[in-house]
Amino acid sequence: MIDHTHDPALKSWVESANVADTDFPIQNLPFATYRRFPGDSPRAGVAIGDQMLDATAAFQLASLRDVMAMTRAERLSLRHRISHYLTTRTAGADELLFPIAAACFELPCEIGDYTDFYASIHHATNVGRMFRPDNPLLPNYKWLPVGYHGRASSIVVSGTPIRRPSGQIADSPAGPPVYGPTRRLDYELEVGAFLGPGNPLGRPIPMVEAAGHIVGVCLLNDWSARDIQTWEYQPLGPFLAKSFATSISPWVVTMEALEPFRRMPEPRPEGDPQPLPHLAGGSPDALGITLEVWLRSARMSSPIRVSRGDFAQLYWTLSQMVAHHTSNGCNLRPGDLIGSGTVSGPEKENRGCLLELTRRGAEPLELPTGEQRRFLEDGDEVIFRGWCEAPGYRRIGLGECRGVISAWN
Ligand code: MN
Repeated sequence: MIDHTHDPALKSWVESANVADTDFPIQNLPFATYRRFPGDSPRAGVAIGDQMLDATAAFQLASLRDVMAMTRAERLSLRHRISHYLTTRTAGADELLFPIAAACFELPCEIGDYTDFYASIHHATNVGRMFRPDNPLLPNYKWLPVGYHGRASSIVVSGTPIRRPSGQIADSPAGPPVYGPTRRLDYELEVGAFLGPGNPLGRPIPMVEAAGHIVGVCLLNDWSARDIQTWEYQPLGPFLAKSFATSISPWVVTMEALEPFRRMPEPRPEGDPQPLPHLAGGSPDALGITLEVWLRSARMSSPIRVSRGDFAQLYWTLSQMVAHHTSNGCNLRPGDLIGSGTVSGPEKENRGCLLELTRRGAEPLELPTGEQRRFLEDGDEVIFRGWCEAPGYRRIGLGECRGVISAWN
């Protein structure tokens, strides 16, 4: 629901929230979990300009799990209270601000379960074509959002170094493999969605209620070791090629903040099947989020942009992922995380991973230093950025998701 909290004329008494290029104007109000210094107890925070508002002190939120467990109506009411607090200065309110630049971030909340989807048809087609040139999409792709159960324990917050994984690697499809550090380390540009309050076991979430079980979104990097993946993935799907690390941005940008950027999903191409009734809704639940990948090698002083995508181009929406995930009765719990799958578009500049961008290394990326990249090298930093814009509304940002590759040894 669009309301006064989305008014583009709304201003905060925190001046840095009123500058044009901030990710965190008063219309955004994303949540994060942070400490002021190592050893401090974790607090729930809300970003406003370049400051963090201590939401644990201001709104008695013990942790963000409390927010994840709220109903949609309760979350909306909390947004109204936070918006009011940050537009109407009260005595002593300054003391609850802390500079974002000095904060130590944690994961937003404990993540019980993590599921990664494969919802970009452009990504699925590009990758499928490498393995099956004549038949890139398998018959199920247009009927259900394909996914796999990921690993929650190795999800880390932006800025955490990513150690190059080792695993079994085979030069020939028939083997034999050797065990050693991956030579084909990749990123995957994705959007993560925190879920809540979720459903009891045995009770599917219908499409009309699915959006109400999405608390908010973050940037997600599904780091992938392509050589380990090639050897291990059949017949049961990704495993150790993915579970060594997944990075997420610290901010949870709420569905309430994203309301002005919801759109009708793009119509399916002529001849494609319509979703079965339990995955059909027709509500405008695609999200217009511009996503970018930036890369900086150890020799580069600043990063360059290597791709840009649009989250609204996915074949399946987050609501359809939630409805499908629970359609067998599987229960979702507060703080569960889903990943969208690599966000790629129709053009080369929209390819959301190096596997696609360099065509498995056949077309290396040229860096300004004269270096080439087929896959990631030690010392490389990958930075994701995301933001939303729509006519008549204030731009809001998702912040950044960063990770530097460190050596296996
Ligand atoms: Mn993925």
